[in-house]
Amino acid sequence: MKYIILNNGIEMPIEGYGVFQIQDPKQCEQCVSDAIDVGYRLIDTAAAYFNEEAVGRAVKKSGISREELFITTKLWIQDTGYENTLKAFETSIKKLGFDYLDLYLIHQPFGDYYDSWRAMEKLQREGYIRAIGVCNFSQERLVDLCLNSEITPAINQIEIHPFHQQQSALNIMKEYQVQPEAWGPLSEGQKDIFNNKTLLKIGIKYGKSVAQVILRWQIQQGVVAIPKTVHKKRMKENINIWDFELSEQDMKVISSIDIGHSEIIDYNSTCTAKWLNRWKIHN
Ligand code: NAP
Repeated sequence: MKYIILNNGIEMPIEGYGVFQIQDPKQCEQCVSDAIDVGYRLIDTAAAYFNEEAVGRAVKKSGISREELFITTKLWIQDTGYENTLKAFETSIKKLGFDYLDLYLIHQPFGDYYDSWRAMEKLQREGYIRAIGVCNFSQERLVDLCLNSEITPAINQIEIHPFHQQQSALNIMKEYQVQPEAWGPLSEGQKDIFNNKTLLKIGIKYGKSVAQVILRWQIQQGVVAIPKTVHKKRMKENINIWDFELSEQDMKVISSIDIGHSEIIDYNSTCTAKWLNRWKIHN
């Protein structure tokens, strides 16, 4: 595994394992145990995934020291605001069963996230969190937060995959030293990505699957990727990307399949803002 250094000097694995949509506690615990067993050290969960306890249990029983693992969880919109954030963090850390967290992210660019950010800055300063960041922040929201915060976000976790490459967002993140992290790194399997002819052709050249080509492309451009799968065989496949390198030409060919927008979620739409704000994770 390779590590990147965040803007506050903290090391983070460049590839990890995500647990979105693995709500069944037993299945999630087993998946995280399998992921740690095959070598993943970064686990990405969220309060809104309803599986923090299962992640915590798997970490505890793994026998791997806590310091070797890098655990991320996220703050939901309903819990934004200063006091709410402090409370939500306490709830998450209790569910995970840890005494500190590696990375805490604002899950959505909605709600009272400036006050949340102040609370997260305090938690980082007090040593409860090693790094703080955001998700799904558009370029202008990210720049605005960077310009109005004491701690610059370490991460912006956004949708990045060959069909939605987000080059201009990546340029802004580079300018502000915010590390990009790809959610949906495999396009959530949409648009039949695993049978995409361009990616299949490149894979054949290197003796690698489409998933491996995509994940290699992600890390070769310095993006942290957190693919999800419930199958141990695929977990192994997805992490087995360290014995080949895509040529500059193949990286260029992959750039050519960008469709330039998301077909998963549209953050520019008011419907998305309404829909996500309606989604409650507790009473
Ligand atoms: P993803 O990782 O792009 O894709 C997951 C899909 O690909 C699943 O259907 C999985 O099926 C399939 N898959 C995985 N590896 C495969 C392989 N080698 N061959 C064939 N199929 C494969 O999508 P994601 O789960 O949405 O994103 C990853 C993580 O990002 C999440 O788990 C979560 O931690 C995070 N995330 C964050 C946000 C946010 O707003 N911050 C949003 C979405 C996701 P099987 O499970 O059946 O193998």
